[in-house]
Amino acid sequence: MGVELPNPALIDEEVVIVAHDLTPSDTAQLNKKFVKGFVTDIGGRTAHSAIMARSLEIPAVVGTDSVTKSVKAGETIAVDGLNGDVVVDPSAEQQADFEKQAKQYAADRAEWAKLKTAKTVTADGKHFELAANIGTPKDLEGVHANGAEAVGLYRTEFLYMDSSELPSEDDQFEAYKEVLESMSPKPVVVRTMDIGGDKHLPYMPLPEEMNPFLGYRAIRISLDRQEIFRTQLRALLRASAFGKLRIMFPMIATIQEFEAAKKIFLEEKANLEKAGTKIADDIQLGIMIEIPAAAVLADQFAKHVDFFSIGTNDLIQYSMAADRGNEHVSYLYQPYNPSILRLVKHVIDSAHKEGKWTGMCGEAAGDPVMVPLLLGMGLDEYSMSATSILKVRSLMKRLSTEDMKKLAETAMNENITNDQNKELVEKFVN
Ligand code: PEP
Ligand code: MG
Repeated sequence: MGVELPNPALIDEEVVIVAHDLTPSDTAQLNKKFVKGFVTDIGGRTAHSAIMARSLEIPAVVGTDSVTKSVKAGETIAVDGLNGDVVVDPSAEQQADFEKQAKQYAADRAEWAKLKTAKTVTADGKHFELAANIGTPKDLEGVHANGAEAVGLYRTEFLYMDSSELPSEDDQFEAYKEVLESMSPKPVVVRTMDIGGDKHLPYMPLPEEMNPFLGYRAIRISLDRQEIFRTQLRALLRASAFGKLRIMFPMIATIQEFEAAKKIFLEEKANLEKAGTKIADDIQLGIMIEIPAAAVLADQFAKHVDFFSIGTNDLIQYSMAADRGNEHVSYLYQPYNPSILRLVKHVIDSAHKEGKWTGMCGEAAGDPVMVPLLLGMGLDEYSMSATSILKVRSLMKRLSTEDMKKLAETAMNENITNDQNKELVEKFVN
């Protein structure tokens, strides 16, 4: 329409942004000091703009369908990002209610903060690893401030998205080294580039696709355009000398894809070693389990990989055939559906049978309803927005794994709906 769009990076007064949609790169530029919240028409809880809002701690409600039609610039709007409530032009009573909730949340946070340096231990004395998801080295501050025990997912594609050209091997090396050094001796799981789906590179035009989330993305691009993949792997291998590196490949559907990626990794490793480069000798290689085919075949995959990290954001959308960013089908986005729980359990058991570990780095890993079930299933590592860690640590302290085992059994085998399982857990935990 010839109207210039405001640049979200230049906002310099306190606002709540109301928009049809925010792209991941729009969200990355938001300044928390001024942006007090955002509300969009489209999107889902696990769309990347929502994930980023969670790590920036900006209250956000996405997928309202029509908020842009019901609010005008300058109006007052109240946003409750915890419960997904939005009120345009709230009454004095409603405002007071929102403010009360905000105060309660601040008080809860102050309580959780006491656990910053504590180990994550359940009521029956079992230790689990709480890790953080990051997108850039800038996120490390939040990782340390929230007492994360590891980085369980470094989404490296943001390095590519922040740049106007493919990042060089040296630029990547510097970023990976910074993260590894800062976390050392704690482990860092770096995921190789996951471009495609809703994450685009302006300088790397991808084919126009009917179904981008099912299309040319992630490891599929890496195996096809190997020069990009090899550059990333070299940067990672060089950085491995500065901390405890684990590498995982996104969107693996077949064992052949994993083997092909591993072969390229080993070739680059051998080349660098020949040239005298110092490289860690204990780099674990794992995969994201986010495609149902890989989840079903986890028993076979477990013989080949060092670890799994379950990407529920995609695993749920592919299993339920419900786009994670589409508000019209968000009712089908059901983390506690027994079908999803059984898939997750199968993945965990398959890894354990081969002596391997399983983490989860989808948003479900930090969800207070899912965590008790995951404890009951024996998940080893929980990777989430850094801002969720202390809350989950405080929750785990109250739970016993034996009780959670029974709860998970009921959820998988007796209940049949997502909502029944949500109620089951909430009743037990609260
Ligand atoms: C996932 O799919 O669960 C995941 C962690 O990856 P992303 O959200 O980046 O697709
Ligand atoms: Mg994914």
